[in-house]
Amino acid sequence: RKILLFLGLLSTLAAIALIAVAVTQNKPLPKNIKYGIVLDAGSSHTNLYVYDWPAEKENDTGVVQQVEVCKVEGPGISGYSHATEKAGPSLMQCLRRAEEVIPPNQHPETPVYLGATAGMRLLSLEDKSAADKVLSSVEKTLRSAPFNFQGARIISGQEEGAYGWITINYLLGSFKQSGWTKFLHILKSVSETSGALDLGGASTQITFVPDEIPYESPESWLHFRLYGKDYKVYTHSFLCYGKDQALRQKLARDLQTTENGRLLDPCFHQGYQRTVNISDLFRNPCTSAEKKQLPFSQLYIQGEGDYQKCRRNIQYLFNKTNCPYSSCSFNGIYLPPLQGDFGAFSAFYFVMNFLNLTNEKSPVALDKVASAIQSFCARPWQEVKLAYHQIKEKYLSEYCFSGTYILSLLQNGYEFTEENWQRIHFLGKIGSSDAGWTLGYMLNLTNMIPAEEPAAPPLSHG
Ligand code: AMP
Repeated sequence: RKILLFLGLLSTLAAIALIAVAVTQNKPLPKNIKYGIVLDAGSSHTNLYVYDWPAEKENDTGVVQQVEVCKVEGPGISGYSHATEKAGPSLMQCLRRAEEVIPPNQHPETPVYLGATAGMRLLSLEDKSAADKVLSSVEKTLRSAPFNFQGARIISGQEEGAYGWITINYLLGSFKQSGWTKFLHILKSVSETSGALDLGGASTQITFVPDEIPYESPESWLHFRLYGKDYKVYTHSFLCYGKDQALRQKLARDLQTTENGRLLDPCFHQGYQRTVNISDLFRNPCTSAEKKQLPFSQLYIQGEGDYQKCRRNIQYLFNKTNCPYSSCSFNGIYLPPLQGDFGAFSAFYFVMNFLNLTNEKSPVALDKVASAIQSFCARPWQEVKLAYHQIKEKYLSEYCFSGTYILSLLQNGYEFTEENWQRIHFLGKIGSSDAGWTLGYMLNLTNMIPAEEPAAPPLSHG
């Protein structure tokens, strides 16, 4: 009996021990989160992004997410060309914000990258030494932060296009399909990746995977192997075709036909007035070819609010006369036939979103888009200012020009038509992350996108 009693006690203890083990196993372990910081030093302003991801899943697709965006006050870093030592300190406020968001014990291992885009590409063409000084100043500030400094550099237009394409396809989950989704995709033969259309202040990029076509213009192609699949990606970046530089190009041309420095401009609202310093207008390589001696130092602009005229006025920015390839966009630049869906982000999104033309559930048809922009341009400036008093006047006064420019770039420049227009999806965010080049840049530099598909994890971990 004693032995039986002892055995009974033993089995009860064993059962208790087993339950205890099970309970501890099911209890979620504290998550091991990693962080990364990328600063997008654009032509008009700098944004600091903080991303996080679970350490043990870093090679999966779609696990890195944006947890913070901080808008740096003041101009973009290229705007400090006359006070280069102030470029770095301008970033301090956002670096402090990143210190608050990221737990202090993680600071030393958090990589920080700064990528400068077309504003700095232009400054570097205009005044290389000023551009170098700006970069040294931002490097000094970033090195003084408690993070792991990984570099501050000007990225090329090709990189900007490619990383934007990587970002949106990573966030959309287009790279890796497994299990049922893979099967369904084969059934529906869904095209695999989305193209990327990015519009900044100083440049614009188009990037997509075309159908199998004869190989032309080798400098337009990038080859990637991602998660075990090869991608042949076409990309081109048009310097001076961001919306601010496009406006300067247009004004510099219009100026050639004025006699007294007064310009009636169809791309601004009726009743709107602006004066522009002619020396500022001709300052950078986007307009310097138009430079000439003029008997006046300022251009005086008066708005006319006429979409059709504005459209014709903008169209000549896209020179379609000469194409040395089987097909071109404009200015003799190769463009293969457009293919599949496109995500259009940055200023494409800001402008179309303001104009209420970004309905994701039912994309707006091209003729409706044109008539919405036409009616917006026709509204008198006083009325527009009253209706949208909360919006910065600089942005508000240019939505008519910007909307018209976007339509012209997409229709005349890239030759989107009524048929494929609705394949353009204007996106600000995908999930919690902004669409843009920064996430793709970080994923690439931290080797978070493997070339080969990682082996399937054991079932019990799935
Ligand atoms: P970048 O600074 O080169 O990245 O270019 C961003 C472009 O978007 C610039 O032309 C800005 O003026 C413009 N932008 C930023 N925010 C807005 C907004 N809310 N509405 C209109 N344009 C904007």
